[in-house]
Amino acid sequence: MSQPDSSVMNRIVSLCKRRGFVYPASEIYGGLNGFWDFGPLGVQLKNNLRDAWWHAMVECSPTGPDGKPVSIVGLDSCIIQHPQTWVASGHVGGFADLMVDCRETKLRYRADHVVVKEVFFVPKGKQEAVSLGILSALDGDEAPSAFAKKAKKLAQKAGGGEVLPIDLEKADNLTTISPDVRDRVIGPDAETAGTLTEPRPFNLMFHSYVGVFQDEDSKVYLRPETAQGIFLQYKNIVDTSRVRIPFGVAQVGRSFRNEVTPRNFIFRVREFEQMEMEFFCPPEDGMMWYEFWVAERMRWWESVGVKKENLFRHIIAKEDLSHYSRGTSDIEYLYPFTAPNFGELEGVAYRTDYDLTQHQKFSKTNLEYIDQEASRRYIPHVVEPASGLTRGVLVMLCEGYQYDESRASPEWLKIKPSLAPIKAGVFPLVNKDGMPEVAEKLYLDLRKNYTCQYDAKQSIGKRYARMDEAGTPFCITVDGETLKDQNVTIRNRDTAQQERVALDKVSSYIAQKLV
Ligand code: ATP
Repeated sequence: MSQPDSSVMNRIVSLCKRRGFVYPASEIYGGLNGFWDFGPLGVQLKNNLRDAWWHAMVECSPTGPDGKPVSIVGLDSCIIQHPQTWVASGHVGGFADLMVDCRETKLRYRADHVVVKEVFFVPKGKQEAVSLGILSALDGDEAPSAFAKKAKKLAQKAGGGEVLPIDLEKADNLTTISPDVRDRVIGPDAETAGTLTEPRPFNLMFHSYVGVFQDEDSKVYLRPETAQGIFLQYKNIVDTSRVRIPFGVAQVGRSFRNEVTPRNFIFRVREFEQMEMEFFCPPEDGMMWYEFWVAERMRWWESVGVKKENLFRHIIAKEDLSHYSRGTSDIEYLYPFTAPNFGELEGVAYRTDYDLTQHQKFSKTNLEYIDQEASRRYIPHVVEPASGLTRGVLVMLCEGYQYDESRASPEWLKIKPSLAPIKAGVFPLVNKDGMPEVAEKLYLDLRKNYTCQYDAKQSIGKRYARMDEAGTPFCITVDGETLKDQNVTIRNRDTAQQERVALDKVSSYIAQKLV
């Protein structure tokens, strides 16, 4: 199938804008880098994905290794917590990315996101290749063209010649080169070499002040993850609800990170939502639950419509694990901008007793669990599946995006019906002859149970196209025949096939297909 010129990602971003899934935040003021708003369709999709996660975690939790459903309860904790929280968790001391500033352009980059490569060319009339300099660019699918453009410019400046092929496959980045090499690098947006500073840690937490005074004592942080709120309420939950170890606490909510280089649409942003669950278990069962949750989470992503081959379990090598982790696996997805590589969607980490031990130490509150039956007390171990809701929506959009020139709308979204923002479009074939009345009645009836849209404008083909772009699985048309035989036409988004269904069976038809 022929594809238009623009990259898949650009097309997804523009479809999202055009159809009201995702808009740049503060757009009328020129936008704010790293912030995106969810429009009418986007918020529906996001809520549906969030609800599916909540249902699979809290309301209908999976069956555990013992054949019984695991016990998981919910929580909604504050974005702002006691500042000691972040000292105890290690975020104040260590939650930092290495970044470099460019003295020429005043721009700031995350050091591991800048690819660096020496580029060579053969000057006009010469045989031997000579260096054009050490170039750099933000990694990702734009990097090769950025390198090529810069190399061409430098070659022209040097009197013209042929630039040798630039292979970025195994290129260095600003964290893997020596200081002398760094001093010769031309920054991603700079003209001259040697304007990049040495990489320095940059804390990713946003801060603010509570109360009227703005001093160190009133400084608070916007949470960079939802997890810590769960640890702070772990004791209250054990004391007040009927959960017994092993059990989990799930939470969905906003997190904030002052990312140095937000990019790739809603993949890496500064304000986002996470869906996190902390699973508390006896120390000796930690590894078992870690394996259980990795498998379970991979299965869940498949259950919401992600193809198995687009998911990848990246087991973090022992030497790269955080000091408190005994095992971490990233569940990765084949994003258009990372392909052929995969990028993180969710992290499943066996965090041992690190967080509770730290909070016990800093808060001086005993956080031991008392196992009455076994007559022992211990700090539970924790396995954490932590995924991004914002990033999950991106995966739904990337996975659902289809291009087929033979259809009414070449671009359409194949989203799992139960997650689709609109479940059914209801149309009168023409806006007269009694059809609108029947269609409106059907719409008013269906909207009690499903998100529906009534559309009587333009040709039926255009209405199908609009619904295809929104990812609506069913289009229901009331036509002249309906008035005689009480049947409507239901068009299936994925097959474009139509079938006649009795008016009074439409609701149960949709219910059956919404899996
Ligand atoms: P990355 O390596 O991509 O920066 P991370 O390993 O720091 O992510 P975690 O702290 O494990 O991420 O957070 C759990 C999940 O939260 C991630 O898998 C991702 O889905 C989501 N997430 C983290 N940072 C961001 C962000 N800046 N924008 C959107 N989602 C994010």
